[in-house]
Amino acid sequence: MVDVAQLVEPRVVVPAVVGSNPIVHPIFMRYGLSKAGMNAQTAASGDVRPVLRLVRGQATTEGAGVRLTRVIGGAQLPDLDPFLLFDEFRSDQPSDYLAGFPDHPHRGFETVTYMLAGRMRHADNKGNKGLLGPGSVQWMTAGSGLVHSEMPEQENGLMWGFQLWVNLPASDKMTAPKYQDIAPERIPEVQAGKGVRVRVLAGRFGEVEGPVRAVATEPLYLDVHLEPGARFEAALPPTHNAFAYAYQGVARIGADERELVRGDLAVLGRGDRVVASAGDAPGRLVLVAGRPLEEPVARYGPFVMNTREQIVQAVQDFSAGRF
Ligand code: FE
Repeated sequence: MVDVAQLVEPRVVVPAVVGSNPIVHPIFMRYGLSKAGMNAQTAASGDVRPVLRLVRGQATTEGAGVRLTRVIGGAQLPDLDPFLLFDEFRSDQPSDYLAGFPDHPHRGFETVTYMLAGRMRHADNKGNKGLLGPGSVQWMTAGSGLVHSEMPEQENGLMWGFQLWVNLPASDKMTAPKYQDIAPERIPEVQAGKGVRVRVLAGRFGEVEGPVRAVATEPLYLDVHLEPGARFEAALPPTHNAFAYAYQGVARIGADERELVRGDLAVLGRGDRVVASAGDAPGRLVLVAGRPLEEPVARYGPFVMNTREQIVQAVQDFSAGRF
């Protein structure tokens, strides 16, 4: 999801990029420059992962005027290798979402849309179409590039979900675009002890494997529902970077049982498992982890490559209609 207002006019973009620094062009200022970004591996190792820091999202407007909250990808947390962006959209005011995200490009990474409520219609310039409904996930590998639109398929009611951007390693950035559109019934739901329900979108939780396949960063994406007093525990590859985002109620997380209220993102440090629990109130959170790429990041709005030259190439290819 990006601001398309000026991207649809290639001549606006090209002069900006042949300048000295594409990253600071105002069209893309909101995305900022990402270098190595923050890497949770600098934390001390341990068994249960600690909370390194809490981040709260910032209200922003994207697409043709959709109001959302940016939690990763803003000034406070530019990225968390391999994650480039994490947005929550949640509103029952149609004026907050009706404008949607008309045609815009992506190259060099993956976008992951997880819907909690509402419907989003997806279409791209290669003829792919899909409808994302409540509980579904779309894992889109933009790879070498596509132009797509994400538009609400409703005129009222609650629209609620997340979009995550996952970087691709240099070797996969120019791979052919690919979709994994996963209906809610294909996402396993695990009862993990008393009062704990876990939807496994990607990766492995115990013996259960999520439906997302063959992803370069070996991601884990869990949606965890905790009843009052419930305790959740999950094994995580020790070298993965990880975060938890509380989207409803209250949850405690980490070795130090930090309290997360709705809208708090916890960056987790090293360790081989994650522990979360609920107090007197229920809590819901997403737990996301991935293998850090530790590669240079050249980022220019909807294009995320390794070098400035590749960004210039991306803009030229998009402008010439080669996506
Ligand atoms: Fe998009």
